[in-house]
Amino acid sequence: MTTPPVCNYEGSDYQTSFWDKGGREYENRTEAIALKRLLPKSGHLLLELGAGAGRNTPRYFNFDRIVLLDYSRTQLEQAQQRLGISDKYIYVAADVYRLPFVAGLFDTATMIRTLHHMADAPKALAQVKNVLESEGVFILEFANKLNLKAILRYLLRRQKWSPFTPEPVEFAKLNFDFHPKAVRNWLSDLGFGIEKTLTLSHFRVGFLKRVIPTNILVFLDSLFQWTGAWWQFTPSVFVRAKLVGLHGREAPLQRGTLPYAGDNILSFFKCPDCGHSPLMDRNSYLECSSCGKRWEVKDGIYDFRESK
Ligand SMILES: [Zn+2]
Repeated sequence: MTTPPVCNYEGSDYQTSFWDKGGREYENRTEAIALKRLLPKSGHLLLELGAGAGRNTPRYFNFDRIVLLDYSRTQLEQAQQRLGISDKYIYVAADVYRLPFVAGLFDTATMIRTLHHMADAPKALAQVKNVLESEGVFILEFANKLNLKAILRYLLRRQKWSPFTPEPVEFAKLNFDFHPKAVRNWLSDLGFGIEKTLTLSHFRVGFLKRVIPTNILVFLDSLFQWTGAWWQFTPSVFVRAKLVGLHGREAPLQRGTLPYAGDNILSFFKCPDCGHSPLMDRNSYLECSSCGKRWEVKDGIYDFRESK
């Protein structure tokens, strides 16, 4: 099966270089505020897509369990060091285009700073829809091509691509910015209803970040986030969408008929190659009885990227 190319953070020091030492306190704190405003008060099982080193994971403390998914195993190892190994966290290395979960498993999913790397965003979003239950909540952050800086640069002829057209722009290899309307259309085509939109990083300008204290910038941004309901011209946009289904088409899964089985993690998974479930637990790997593929389980990480 061919899938689009994946942006792999294997061996990356992204957490340290970008977040811890990269002067991103402002961005990190404004994201914390947005997540608080958008997350359900509580829930059973949350899927964090593109969890990386687990920077946002502690913000999901109200959920019983969290599945951290990332393509990079080394990022998940960093997350394990940060969060520890406990029943609350399940670590899964997998390709977002081939999610290894049974349909309707999760009541909530988040994808923060991750769609940014998707060469085929609608395909990735369709995978998320498949694993969410009916009325499940999806919190999505995307990089906005229609941001003020890009508009100014385009009008001053210092940038070739137009921020006004709906197609994604790949400004660096496997780094994409999206038009807000295109993202809304993809979500509604999949049966998501958008409940809230917040705009973030109104003041992501080096000069302002140097001159104005971070506390003040964070406070101002927290006020301006609500204007996302009317217009979106910031580099980062958060939406809270609910899976309401498509009238007359696929009936969404109903609560109570879900495969969620409390403690039985094995019941969460399906074979990402052939779709068969349940898989068989062979200790160091999970085996698919339908196609015979074996998926490694090592040091607390389920690895569904390539079969053994
Ligand atoms: Zn299989």
